[in-house]
Amino acid sequence: MRANLSKDYHCTFSIERFGTFLMTLIPFDDRDGWIWMNGDFVPWRDAKVHVLTHGLHYGSCVFEGERLYNGEIFKLTPHTKRLFRSAEILEMEIPFTVEEIDAACKATVAKMGFENAYIRPVAFRGPEQMGVAAQQTRTHVAIAAWEWPSYFDPEVKRKGIRLMPAPYIRPAPNMAPTEAKAAGLYMICTLSKHAAERAGYADAMMLDYRGYVAEATGANIFFVRDGVIYTPTPDCFLNGLTRQTVIDLARSRGFTVEETHIRPEELATFSECFITGSAAEVTPVSEIGAYHFTPGNLSLSLMEDYSLLVRGELKL
Ligand code: PMP
Repeated sequence: MRANLSKDYHCTFSIERFGTFLMTLIPFDDRDGWIWMNGDFVPWRDAKVHVLTHGLHYGSCVFEGERLYNGEIFKLTPHTKRLFRSAEILEMEIPFTVEEIDAACKATVAKMGFENAYIRPVAFRGPEQMGVAAQQTRTHVAIAAWEWPSYFDPEVKRKGIRLMPAPYIRPAPNMAPTEAKAAGLYMICTLSKHAAERAGYADAMMLDYRGYVAEATGANIFFVRDGVIYTPTPDCFLNGLTRQTVIDLARSRGFTVEETHIRPEELATFSECFITGSAAEVTPVSEIGAYHFTPGNLSLSLMEDYSLLVRGELKL
């Protein structure tokens, strides 16, 4: 992958091997619209924090990623509850109720005039105190929404994306608060995804601290063998809401889904692989390092079913 950063900060990406995928990135601080911040809407470009914000220096920050489909935010309250749970794990108190944050997410997409969008609520410790201890800080909350049709190139998605084995592993639950969707946990994801993109892959697959298969850098992972679906037990990484939805969808279709520990050598025994996430939705995988998979009926039908379900065109 090549990234050419021109002086006006518009980036053109060209991903080789998958055909050319051109994308113009408009900097995220220079857009039109409104961002909900601590209870009020502020013009997009004014939604700023001070450089001595605790969350920026010490990673005291949790966030969510959700999608709006045809005017409805899919699983809004479960996402909001997870935001509160992540904050609680990091000993941060969100000065709003779940109902207030739900309403603020809805108000944000309405103010932006979106029918389909990605929503990013974020909660972080502010600049009231600077240092490792942060007992005096307040928790600040913001919600932004933008149009983000597909996490991966849609052309490539159906054929299956290629994952590279990640250079970092998911830490143990006593090494980091692994159950939280905490910003600090993404440091190793960004480095792993960068390594993958530099090598021409779409993403990286991370093992856990025991050497078991864990997940991609921002999505959970599933495999298929002889019509049975296997997915790693989420005991040191996020049990994604999409993961849970896809398990329910597959079971409602009569498929067996086994949550189990998967050793990397077992990848040779699987015929299909796909990843799941609010941003990634259901994305088939064609390759992980030396292992190859063919996006088959199961991956593609779950991809279609998920797409119908989130748009309210299919009921579980
Ligand atoms: N794992 C990681 C590391 C993620 O960032 C995400 C995306 N939030 C997921 C898994 C999938 O979670 P969800 O399906 O709830 O979006």
